[in-house]
Amino acid sequence: MLLDIEGLSYSRGQGDQCFTVELPSFQLQPGELVAITGRSGSGKSTLLELLGLLTAPHRTERFRWRANGYRQDLDRLWQRRRHGTLSSIRGTSMGFILQTSGLLPFLSVAGNLALIRRALGLPKHDPDLDRMIECLDIGPFLHKKPSQLSVGQQQRASIVRALAHHPALVLADEPTSALDPNLGDAVMTLLLEQARSHGISVLLATHEVDRVETLGIGRLDGSNLHPETGFAWRFGR
Ligand code: ADP
Ligand code: MG
Repeated sequence: MLLDIEGLSYSRGQGDQCFTVELPSFQLQPGELVAITGRSGSGKSTLLELLGLLTAPHRTERFRWRANGYRQDLDRLWQRRRHGTLSSIRGTSMGFILQTSGLLPFLSVAGNLALIRRALGLPKHDPDLDRMIECLDIGPFLHKKPSQLSVGQQQRASIVRALAHHPALVLADEPTSALDPNLGDAVMTLLLEQARSHGISVLLATHEVDRVETLGIGRLDGSNLHPETGFAWRFGR
């Protein structure tokens, strides 16, 4: 099991503006793709940040990680403020596809892809990376800087960048939001294929429930605990 979570919760803000996300129980297997669904403002991005170790939960009964033969008690790492270890798990074993592209502006797309592989000591050439470049058609602008690309092109480049080091877990926040339907399908196909053939687990925040259902992808769905305010959400399968 890659992630094993019980009783996770997080709140932000105070008083009647307090926003809460709860994840009572969640287990993620290697090679599994799960869509985090819920209406806008339900906390999908917040939940991805919690699962991607970018935000500390306020409470957990169990928060465990196991990848590449290593087990980590994430709960304990947060409590003991082991930010170095948390950041090294993020850097080596996770890939993020965030709503802002996150590409380094002073490097070309090719430079962005090479950087993460070099940092992890991986060989420069990788047939699988070449295939991803082809699949999302980013070859034509590999040598451009992010500022010279459209939002959709940046999104495609950042998807390949998140997968370039074959992480154990990919966290994707609305990765198809700036893409036309054909490219959106290509992205979903790529993520599904990476999950199936490389055992990469994928968490995908999306409001596109129809697309997820058509592809038969499992859902971690947010339900509204306080319909009058919409400020408390519980996610479950
Ligand atoms: P979703 O991704 O489902 O649209 P978010 O996780 O972005 O939901 O937001 C959940 C709630 O937290 C919303 O009420 C939003 O307004 C609020 N929120 C999101 N980011 C921040 C932030 N950085 N500071 C304060 N409130 C935020
Ligand atoms: Mg969001």
